[in-house]
Amino acid sequence: MPYKDPEVARQKARERYLAKREQILANCKKYYATHKEQQKANTRKWLDAHPGKTNEYSAKWRAKHPEENRARILNYKIKQRELIFDHYGRLCACCGETRIEFLSIDHVKGGGNKHRRDAKLTNSTDLYLWIIRHGFPDDFRVLCYNCNCSLGFFGYCPHNKEPEYGIEPAC
Ligand SMILES: [Zn+2]
Ligand SMILES: [Zn+2]
Repeated sequence: MPYKDPEVARQKARERYLAKREQILANCKKYYATHKEQQKANTRKWLDAHPGKTNEYSAKWRAKHPEENRARILNYKIKQRELIFDHYGRLCACCGETRIEFLSIDHVKGGGNKHRRDAKLTNSTDLYLWIIRHGFPDDFRVLCYNCNCSLGFFGYCPHNKEPEYGIEPAC
């Protein structure tokens, strides 16, 4: 029976889909396994014929689901971080801090700012992606934000050296 209200029709179609979802997905999977190349070619053809369309769909989805979008981005960022610290270790090389929220990546030989500028890395996730893409080079190590900042600003960390800054002589 056709539904007059398109919103109701959409809702009913969705219910029908959800009721058979498992079966539909299994069939799709089976079909894809035997028609892989054909499917890929079809997708490519569609993408070529509709430039920018997927971006448009993504933008619409993001606008409609701001909460879920934020959660996905956060999840993605956390996953990148996990990969990085799985490789370089979960321990500040200076003070031994192990809480992952405090840890950051340090350029062992310095030049972090230049590297960020040259590779156009605007935030830590960019840096993590760069490191992953370049096969986890040995030029990086783990420092907590405190030690990393102190080394960056003052060239030393007070964990290893008497502070030279901010201490007034007692007399
Ligand atoms: Zn530290
Ligand atoms: Zn330190």
